[in-house]
Amino acid sequence: MKLLIATICLGFPFLSLVSQPKENKLNVLDRKTYELSIQKNPNKELINLGKKIPGITLDIKYATPDNFTKQVIYKEAKAFARKPVADALARAELEFLQLGYSIKIFDAYRPYAATVKFFEIVGDTRYVASPKNGSRHNKGCAIDLTLVDQKTKKELIMPTEYDSFRKEAWAEASVSDPEILKNRTTLIQVLSKYGFRVNKTEWWHYDYLDCAGFEVLDIPFEELE
Ligand SMILES: [Zn+2]
Repeated sequence: MKLLIATICLGFPFLSLVSQPKENKLNVLDRKTYELSIQKNPNKELINLGKKIPGITLDIKYATPDNFTKQVIYKEAKAFARKPVADALARAELEFLQLGYSIKIFDAYRPYAATVKFFEIVGDTRYVASPKNGSRHNKGCAIDLTLVDQKTKKELIMPTEYDSFRKEAWAEASVSDPEILKNRTTLIQVLSKYGFRVNKTEWWHYDYLDCAGFEVLDIPFEELE
């Protein structure tokens, strides 16, 4: 801004055109720019989690109307994450299997267009990510998940249902039922060993911490394979 004022004061109004402060515009990659990015850094590839970790269960809520928007957001019920995130999740699954559990995924990489849609529907950044910044889901660096019994595939009992906006959904909310407490603690503790941190207000949401340099992406699932 100082530069702008200076150029006007100095009587070079044409210079003010180039020195105006730029708006902080979000860098969103489409399929073409994403493909160029993975040529430079193969770790940026989005990996199909259902194929990489065959034992896991997919219950992709946004591919059904059974989600907080009551609308079908995704055309396909698939889950993707960047390569290091997928590798870490595969290692966590091995540990869960030893405990008699297995991972069930509700959501993983989320195309940026879906985040824009959520914001149009809800319009409150306390509940959905602002499209201004995008989210870690948009970067392929966050997973929403729970645990199922390895044999029956029945969900373990947790403090709330998925995507609950209630206070009981907070990761540190007090829980009186010892079984629920044990389930939530197991989920949080095992995932933290593999580089995931639970979201403060959502027991099911895990950010992979080592995601520096991964851009927001806007590629629908059907264009990824
Ligand atoms: Zn999430």
